[in-house]
Amino acid sequence: MFDLIIKNGMLADGTGADAYQADLAVADGKIAKIGDCSTDEAKQVIDASGKTLTPGFIDPHSHADLSLLVWPKNEAYVLQGVTTQICGNCGLAPAPFNDEVWEAWCWEYTSQNVVNKSVFSPFSFQTDAPAMKAQLKKDYDLDVDWNTLGEYMEKLEQRGFSTNYYPQAGHNHIRNAVMGKAWRPATQEEIEKMKAILRDDFEHGAQGFSTGLDYLPGRFATTDEIEELLKVVKEYGGVYSTHARSFDPADPKGHMNAIYGVREATELCRRTGVKTNISHMIQSFTYGPMENPEMEQALNDATVAELERGWKNEGLPMMYDVLDNPSQGGSTLPHLICLVRSWVLMCGSVEHFLEMIEYPDFVQMIKDQSAEGKGGVFSAAVQDWDMSPLIVTDACKDARFANKSMKQIMKELGTKDLIDAVLTVLKADPYTGMKTCNPGGEGSVHTLLSSERSMPSSDGFAFDLDTQMDLPFPLNRPPHPNNFCYAIRYLLMYGPERFEDKVKQMTMVPADWFNLPDRGRLQEGCFADIVVIDREHLATNENAVEPGQAPDGIDYVLINGVITADHKKHTGAMAGKVLRRKHN
Ligand SMILES: [Zn+2]
Ligand SMILES: [Zn+2]
Repeated sequence: MFDLIIKNGMLADGTGADAYQADLAVADGKIAKIGDCSTDEAKQVIDASGKTLTPGFIDPHSHADLSLLVWPKNEAYVLQGVTTQICGNCGLAPAPFNDEVWEAWCWEYTSQNVVNKSVFSPFSFQTDAPAMKAQLKKDYDLDVDWNTLGEYMEKLEQRGFSTNYYPQAGHNHIRNAVMGKAWRPATQEEIEKMKAILRDDFEHGAQGFSTGLDYLPGRFATTDEIEELLKVVKEYGGVYSTHARSFDPADPKGHMNAIYGVREATELCRRTGVKTNISHMIQSFTYGPMENPEMEQALNDATVAELERGWKNEGLPMMYDVLDNPSQGGSTLPHLICLVRSWVLMCGSVEHFLEMIEYPDFVQMIKDQSAEGKGGVFSAAVQDWDMSPLIVTDACKDARFANKSMKQIMKELGTKDLIDAVLTVLKADPYTGMKTCNPGGEGSVHTLLSSERSMPSSDGFAFDLDTQMDLPFPLNRPPHPNNFCYAIRYLLMYGPERFEDKVKQMTMVPADWFNLPDRGRLQEGCFADIVVIDREHLATNENAVEPGQAPDGIDYVLINGVITADHKKHTGAMAGKVLRRKHN
């Protein structure tokens, strides 16, 4: 007697082989039989005639770690067929979690949207730990009482959650825990302390290690520091996921060019032999949209050629993942004023903020606090990370400032100061729209995702469909639609031509890469993470204004053998598992 039989479906089994018709039986959370089940009995039978079965999709780049504690159903991902999320990316893991780390931006998403507004000030763009903890207790009955990654995973299991959680240790938090806010290269003694924490993480089940080398404090790590830490990853057979640098590590004040990060990642892979995945890969030779589409395409091609050099010429174990949407991000910043939200909140209203920015002392305060690293995008700017080409305005009452990059606007205003330029635009229209853009545009997404070494990813968080962010218009920061439909976008728009090959890049390829041999394929003995798809009716239902939309065409999603989605509805099942590293 099986728990469930899915009859008459076409199986695209994750290997890339042609889809074939078969019945599939589930027992004890695993695929118990594939073939003819016409004489078998089961507690439940689904007729999948005309439907396609695939393995559950694996999101290779997620930041769901902390949001899984507050939105454990994670409808956004479950309802599009994602059953496993690779977490702890960009150097941002949910541990270690001492007060130094609290002051970093690990709670960035939740903190800026959910916490009581009194918590906000320019001093808590990073977060005020006691206020934050009290609010999470009040809103979600969540005690923030873990420190290590091992303790975090136990917490997650206690509370229950839907999608499988794949743990990676995060360099930024480990570095924060050891060095506080010391923005400099680490000493040998500090590196040894970091290695000890990393070892502890692996001993407690971490599968990988990530860096975020554009962020604080990771950007102050040298290549040698990362190499030392990768030696620990190597000991445990883990994987390395890197948000690579957008600047030359030898010349941090040099011009922006993400190819330096690709070269550093390749060099580290060459030195250590650790499997290296470059996170959220983008076109790398420019920064910001180009006017000449042929030049842009040439640079897209050059980016892939540079990536291929390592694995084709030297056989290095390297992959990369790509956000399959030219406007990137886990969340959207719909209005330019979102860039100064801390100070708007400090002023109490948009109107008062507009009055205050007439005072040079107030503007100077914004600049000083940004220079201290408390101003998000502006802090990046004052640290010589020029974000101005990537910040593009949308509608603006003043036509001079509509649909232009801040770089262009700065040029036209004759200022080299991004903050001055943003404030000038806000004075003209405080409700000016904003798009964050992806260098290389739509063409780069197609080109990058055409490689067999690429995987589509979301770079998102866990959300439910009705997750509301409580800051009012125009400071709101809704989840990016990618959180709800990136997998369906890929199936419909990107990657290889054949459906079976697309499925492979989202299932078996990431499963093998991340050392999950019993997931990512429809084979007897594997875990029953399964999606039943009505291919004719697949639609993303992508919506930037109200992003919480379930895609069409996903009939059922099973996670560890439990039906977790049934025709656009979450069943309430919490069958997700922590996928700890298996001890040898
Ligand atoms: Zn990143
Ligand atoms: Zn990321």
